[in-house]
Amino acid sequence: MDCIFCKLANGKIETELVYEDDKVVAFNDMNPVAPIHILVVPKEHYASLEDIPEEDIGIIADIHSAIKKISRMNGFSKDGYRVINNCGKDGGQEVDHIHYHVLAGKPMKKLISE
Ligand code: AMP
Ligand code: ZN
Repeated sequence: MDCIFCKLANGKIETELVYEDDKVVAFNDMNPVAPIHILVVPKEHYASLEDIPEEDIGIIADIHSAIKKISRMNGFSKDGYRVINNCGKDGGQEVDHIHYHVLAGKPMKKLISE
C-alpha cells in the first residue's frame, strides 16, 4: 500500500507542487519551521536513506540537483538555505518515505541535537 508521500508524489492525493521532474517532486511542508520550508521527495518509495539499495543511490544526486533548481526558481540560492534529512528513529524521522527538508528565508540558528 502506498504511503502518504507516495500518494502526494504520484498525484493520488492532490497537492500544490513547487517542483516536479520525472523522479522527484517538492511541496510545502504543512508545518513550516522557517519562512520557506519545502520537502523534496522521490516518486519512488524508499523508507529512508538506509533503505536505498546501492544501485539506486543516484536518486540522492537527483534530489540534490532538484534542490539547486528549486533554490534558483524561488530566489534563495544566493542567500542560502539548510538541507536536512532525518533518518530513522534517532534521527527524528516521522514519515517513512525519504524526504529532504529545505529551509530558507532567514538566517538559521546553529545546529542543535534536539
Ligand atoms: P520528518 O520528521 O523528517 O519525517 O518530517 C516529516 C515532515 O512532513 C514534517 O515536517 C511534517 O510537517 C511534514 N508532513 C507530514 N505530512 C504532510 C503532508 N500531508 N503535507 C505536507 N507536509 C507533511
Ligand atoms: Zn512512500
